[in-house]
Amino acid sequence: MASFHGMALQERSRVFRLFNKCSFSSNQEPMLKTQVGVHETSFSMDHDICASFLQECANTRSLAEGKQFHAQMLVTATEQSSILATKLVNLYAMWGCFREAQIAFQSIPKLNPYSCNAMIRGYVKHGFCHEAIELFQQMEKEGVPGDNFTFPFILKACTEISNLKQGIEVHNAVIRFGFASNAFVANSLIDMYGKCGDIKDARQVFDKMSHRNVVSWTSMITGYAQRQLMDESLKLFRQMQVEGVEPNSLTATTILPVCGQLRSLQCGKGIHCYMVKKGFEEDVFAGSALVDMYAKCGEVYDARYVFDNMPNRNVVSWNGMIAGYAQNEYVNEAVELFSVMQHAGIKLNSIAIISVLPAFARLGFLKQGKEIHSCILKNAFEFNVFASNGLIDMYAKCGTLKFARHVFDKMPDRDVGSWTAMIAGYGMHGHGEAALKLYNQMQHSGINPNEITFTAILTACSHAGLVHEGWKLFDSINQQYPSLLHEKHCACMVDLLGRAGLLDEAWDFVKNMPFKPGKNVWGTLLAACRVNHNIILGEYVAEKFLELEPDNVGFYVLLSNMYAEAGRWEDAENVRAIMKQKGLKKSPGCSWIEMGNKVHTFQVEDKSHPQSAEIYAMLETLSRQMKAAGFVPDTSFVFHNVDEEEKEYILCGHSEKLAIAFGLINTLPGTTIRVNKNLRVCGDCHAATKFISKLVNREIVVRDSYRFHHFRDGNCSCRDYW
Ligand code: ZN
Ligand code: ZN
Repeated sequence: MASFHGMALQERSRVFRLFNKCSFSSNQEPMLKTQVGVHETSFSMDHDICASFLQECANTRSLAEGKQFHAQMLVTATEQSSILATKLVNLYAMWGCFREAQIAFQSIPKLNPYSCNAMIRGYVKHGFCHEAIELFQQMEKEGVPGDNFTFPFILKACTEISNLKQGIEVHNAVIRFGFASNAFVANSLIDMYGKCGDIKDARQVFDKMSHRNVVSWTSMITGYAQRQLMDESLKLFRQMQVEGVEPNSLTATTILPVCGQLRSLQCGKGIHCYMVKKGFEEDVFAGSALVDMYAKCGEVYDARYVFDNMPNRNVVSWNGMIAGYAQNEYVNEAVELFSVMQHAGIKLNSIAIISVLPAFARLGFLKQGKEIHSCILKNAFEFNVFASNGLIDMYAKCGTLKFARHVFDKMPDRDVGSWTAMIAGYGMHGHGEAALKLYNQMQHSGINPNEITFTAILTACSHAGLVHEGWKLFDSINQQYPSLLHEKHCACMVDLLGRAGLLDEAWDFVKNMPFKPGKNVWGTLLAACRVNHNIILGEYVAEKFLELEPDNVGFYVLLSNMYAEAGRWEDAENVRAIMKQKGLKKSPGCSWIEMGNKVHTFQVEDKSHPQSAEIYAMLETLSRQMKAAGFVPDTSFVFHNVDEEEKEYILCGHSEKLAIAFGLINTLPGTTIRVNKNLRVCGDCHAATKFISKLVNREIVVRDSYRFHHFRDGNCSCRDYW
């Protein structure tokens, strides 16, 4: 009998292929026999070859080949052994055929680590994490030791289903069986603790490792980044470089978003250089991360340069670039690139939708947002709860609350994010009662609120001036969910009280609040001091705030405005001088309006628009009519020591007024005008817009950085609460 021994592996594979083929058509049999010189009609196959071929089928070949081979083994009565049974377990588990895998598994008389590992690996690969853990527990019960092939997979299972308790038990087993110093096992432990446990435990495992490889460092850096501990993440990345461990493309992809969030351009550029040297920048994930980093650091042109030079782009790269334009208020570029993307036939996936929607929401691009909505419907993503949540947020931020509610009402399943988005939507439009009603409904439906929900509902109370309700809510949160209470929620209370003119009450609240006040609370209290014209408390609060945030631009602007409003020009100038000295620049005010397929952007006293002459003429006419109707401009909002006449002129040039005038010129009478502004709308513009809405008999919707203002018939929906 011809033996397969001694044949090269490749040759053996060919034989098996032919052998399998001929088993289906008997007339090919003679040919095969002559080819390989097999003359007997039946023969038992060699054990080792069977084992290696089954392994091949599990790793690189197909399930079909494995199945055929298994059938041949049965036909030829190949001797069964626990090694072959384990190989069969491995084959079926790897391809996700767990019924067959179980049969082979149970044919082995005694539980052994190899077959268990094969089973666990298959389970985890196909997402059956609970089954994997059950088997591990059975191993523990029967005293079958786990090894460096068991632990990484079982830890991955724990991580995937966020089962920290089980993860800790596995950690104990790792120590018991002496695998704590194994790099693969330790890396999995870091990953597990980083994702579902205490980051300090992850760090402890990391620190105890005798030999750390690039994966260990990357896992730990990722752990910090996922917990938003950006400083720690970057610190560790630097230490990694000091210790001479070379980052890989995954490390780069992890650390770049950290640089972006910290706006650490220098570090980001360093990584970019390194990537070019190593050729990582060709990697589509690393390249997309680069685009995102440059955009977050405000370097839009660099982001675009990287984007344009990427050899391959995926939907993530496109999203990153579009979102980057949006974040930096490159309004037209964002819209243009989005349409280029669609024309290029890049198919939006649900992740793309979730990342692009906030960009359009931020800019108030209703038209583009609607296009995405139709895309969601076309691709049947409407059952994706994240996509729907994004739509609610987009419609609310684009000023169409009705559409937002429509999406909300049609959702088959809502999560806490859906309720929160809708509550926040009501809040930003000043519908405090509707927000409260929805909040109560949410609790009745058995969904627990989270931190973001609390911020949304407290902000809604603040926008609507619901002081009593706000207090009631805050107390209930404090009693029911004390662990979720955050300094930000206290800031919401300060805001609510401050806007309602209850500055003393706000100050009492800060003195008695359950936390040490942080930058959120001090910053809000300072703004409340300004609104209530209490400069004495304001100066005290400013000092407190300065200790925490010495370089906050908004703070200096607020303080100098406060002085200016009190007529203390010299103090105001001093604050401006400090700003200049520190190199802090206030982001310039800008407003934009969509018209046709274009977005028109205006800056303060902007004269660059082609219709500029008409716009200024329109403003002058309006100004005359307003004065005749008794409108007195509030000049306290101009913060330079200039005489009254010049102040009025500067007021006329505010960006939102330019955008409104542009809208009036270019739309038919009666059309609603929608304007977006990147900063808070100023008091003068607010008062003027109320007048204009009555004069021209139009609804004017202004979205500022804080909320919506619906101006109609001389009034604003915010009831002057903003
Ligand atoms: Zn203004
Ligand atoms: Zn308003």
